[in-house]
This record gives sequence, C-alpha cells and structure tokens, in this order.
Amino acid sequence: MNITADSVWLNCLKFVKDNIQPQAFKTWFEPIKAVKLADNVLSIEVPSKFFYEWLEEHYVKILKVSLQKSLGDEAKLVYVIKMENTFGNSQPFTEKIPSSNTSSFSVQNTTTPINRNIPELKNPFIIPGIKNVKVESQLNPNYTFENFLEGDSNRLARNAGIAVSNKPGGTSFNPFLIFGGVGLGKTHLANAIGIEIKKKYPEKTVLYTTAEKFTQQYIDAIKKNNRNDFIYFYQVIDTLIIDDIQFFSGKPGTQDVFFHIFNHLHQNGKQVVLTSDKAPVDMQDIELRLLSRFKWGLSAELQKPDFETRVSILKNKLYRDGIEMDDDIVNYVAKNIKTNVRELEGAIISLIAQASFNRKEINLSLAAEIIEKFVKNSKREISIDYIQKIVSDYFQMDIPTLQSKTRKRHIVQARQLAMFFAKKYTKASLASIGSQIGKRDHATVLHACKTVDNLSSTDKQFRKFVEDLGKKLSV
Ligand code: ADP
Ligand code: MG
Repeated sequence: MNITADSVWLNCLKFVKDNIQPQAFKTWFEPIKAVKLADNVLSIEVPSKFFYEWLEEHYVKILKVSLQKSLGDEAKLVYVIKMENTFGNSQPFTEKIPSSNTSSFSVQNTTTPINRNIPELKNPFIIPGIKNVKVESQLNPNYTFENFLEGDSNRLARNAGIAVSNKPGGTSFNPFLIFGGVGLGKTHLANAIGIEIKKKYPEKTVLYTTAEKFTQQYIDAIKKNNRNDFIYFYQVIDTLIIDDIQFFSGKPGTQDVFFHIFNHLHQNGKQVVLTSDKAPVDMQDIELRLLSRFKWGLSAELQKPDFETRVSILKNKLYRDGIEMDDDIVNYVAKNIKTNVRELEGAIISLIAQASFNRKEINLSLAAEIIEKFVKNSKREISIDYIQKIVSDYFQMDIPTLQSKTRKRHIVQARQLAMFFAKKYTKASLASIGSQIGKRDHATVLHACKTVDNLSSTDKQFRKFVEDLGKKLSV
C-alpha cells in the first residue's frame, strides 16, 4: 500500500478520535492538515502557535503513540505553523517547529526560534484595516502613584506595585494580584503600575483592560472565527493588566483562554497584573489550575483606609482641585465616611458642588447637612448608563449622539441634563461622570450642572425637561 502524509494522518486521527473527547477532537484535531511525509517525518500544519503549544502540552503522548503505529518507533513529527496575515499581505507566514518531546520523537537539529517575526496582529481595540498600529494602553492618566496616597491600609500593595513597575516581569510578584472591596483603589493602583511602566519603559507594550471586556472580546472572536487573532494579540503584550477578574468566575471558556495567555506571558517574562474583589482563597468558580497560578506571584490586599489616610486623601484631592477647606470640615467628612475612598471623594465633591451652586460658604453645618443626605442617598443607586438611556430616549436620540462632540444646541442640552442627573442621582465623581458621558472632564460636568440650574430658573421649556426627566428617573 502506498503511504502518504494524508493516509498516515488519517490513521493517526482514527486512533486519537477513539481516545479523546469528541469536542476536544473537533477543536484541536480537525483543523490540522498533514502537509508532508519524508522518511519517518510527518509534517502537520497547525493554525497558530497557540495551537502548537496546546498540542504539545496536552496531546503529545497520544500523537506519538498514534504516529508510531503507522511509521514505527523512529517516527517524528514536525509542526508547521500557519499564521494568517490579517492585514492582507499575501505571503502567509509559516514556521516549522519540531515537536519538543522525547528524543526519538523530535527532530533534533532544527533550532528555529519560536518568537521570530510575529506577523501584524489584529488589535481588537482598534478599527481593523489600519496598518502598523500600536496597542493603545487604555490607561487612565489620572490614576498615578503620586495621586495614590499611602497609608497603613495600602502600604504593601502600593510598594509592591512600585517594585513591579521598576522591573516589570523581573520580580517574584508575577502575577501581581491586588484585591479588596469596592472603592478601595484597585483600579487606581493597577493603572498606576501601567502608567509608571510606560514612563520608565516607553518601548514596552502595556495594556489595561477589564475582565468583562476581555470576555466580551473573546466571545466576539469566537463568533467571528478569529480566536487565534485574539490570542496573538494578547500574547504580544509586555504588561497585561486585567481588572476585576472575579468576572471570570463561572466562565470556563474564558478562564481557559486566559490561562493559556497567562502561561505564555509568564513563560516569556512578561508582567501580569490582576485585580479582584476577593482574595484567591475566596474566589468561587475559578478553576484550580488558574488559582494555583495566582500563588506564583503576590496577592496584596487593599484595606479600608484609616482616619489619617482618609484625611490625607481628602486634603490631596482638595489641593489638586485648588479648593481650600477648613481642617475641621475635612476631619468631619473623614470621620463620617468610612466605607471606602470612592464614597469619600463623592461626599467631598457634593460638598464643593453644593457650596458653589448656592454660593454658600462651606461650614460645619452645611457639611453635616450634606453628609447626612449623602449617606442616606447612597442607598439608592441609579446607574449613569441608565440615566443616559432615559435622557436620550426622551429626546429621541441615541446614546452615541448624546455623547458626540457636536455643538448642536439640543444635543448639548441633552448631554448637560444627563450630567446634571448623574450628579444628582449617583455617587459618581464629576470626573467619573464626565468620562462616562462622552469622555469629558470634571470642569465640563460642573459647568453642565450650573447651566442646568440656571436654565431651569430662566427658561420655562427647559424647566419642563428637568421636571419630566426627574419624574422618569425617580420612578
Ligand atoms: P476599586 O477599583 O477598588 O473599586 P478605585 O480604584 O476605582 O476603586 O478607587 C475609587 C476612587 O478612590 C478613585 O477615584 C481613586 O482615585 C480613589 N482612591 C482610592 N484609593 C486611593 C488612595 N490611596 N489615594 C487617593 N485616591 C484613592
Ligand atoms: Mg475598580
């Protein structure tokens, strides 16, 4: 009988199929093509390097046994990696890597480095079709180390973060996991690390993303059949920061792909920074192998700030905003708002906003009044997204229009109303409202709130908008 690459491979497949899960067979073996048979060496073409690593890690034994059945003990396997070039370059990029297993099974004399010439990547963060794009870091420039005040509650995490930024991938804090309750500074600290790394090592690729976005992109990639692009994209990052990984719980598919991206980065000395609202021991529905990876690095907790830290955070904020406030008022706020830093900032912003709207001086009794309201109000939560939806529906426009850069009056007014209600009904800071409603700054939001106040006292039609929307939002 004439044996060809195809016939040998078909025999292998039969054997493999009988010995592994049908789904795994479909995923990992169906896409493979046999491309060449020379002597005892079978070359198979795999769609990506990730594929190759996966096969090596999980299936090399079974491949070996099956291949030896057809070709005898001297059988060897060579992987040919085919990478589709996503930007229309007609030259396909291929790479030959001998199977790295036992000596009888692998080709010894080929020393092709694996990481050579990775082709241009499709970056899910940019519009496809643009060439030579750099990965945008997606970092929030306000979240620096300077702005992250140190206290007993965060000393370890903050200093470990600084160590990581000095030597990304070069400390034992890899992965570096920051955990703690809401509003305690996880996102801020994770960004600070990224910003510092970019500052020290401008050539390094840093990416901040949330576990939610990562999951969404992964799902999209599966749908569009470009899972490989997704994986390549993440594998070229030098510092990968993923916020709120508790979002991965109960999502085995995403955990799986993250696990492999993580391993790849870790093996290549790249830094991984993660945040979570829970300590690893308390994480539920996260695969054990992933949890065990977290133990490789450092988990540092952010705790609730003590009184002194709360005071210094408040003072720093006031200083940065150029606002003066008596110490006894600052102390009063710090004493009464203990839950977390976000609430603390929210309270002080309400105080400043109220004082400036009403042209009142900030004194202790005003502070007491506002803090009391603030503490009460904070039970009821309307999201900024919800407000934008209600406002844009009311004016029969869509949210992108509401957020757009246009100066058309009715759109500007709708946006200002959304900001006004976001200020009124949420605890979000002016800066955060601004960034969520069309990426504006805090001054724009403050201005919007003042404009809405003014217009509602001078313009009857406008007052009706405010009343209608107020009703819609309070039911
Ligand atoms: P988390 O991600 O843990 O929910 P964030 O990082 O979003 O919390 O922090 C909430 C707010 O508190 C942010 O505006 C952040 O800048 C501020 N913040 C938190 N910790 C500190 C700190 N140590 N110094 C200054 N600001 C802080
Ligand atoms: Mg956060």
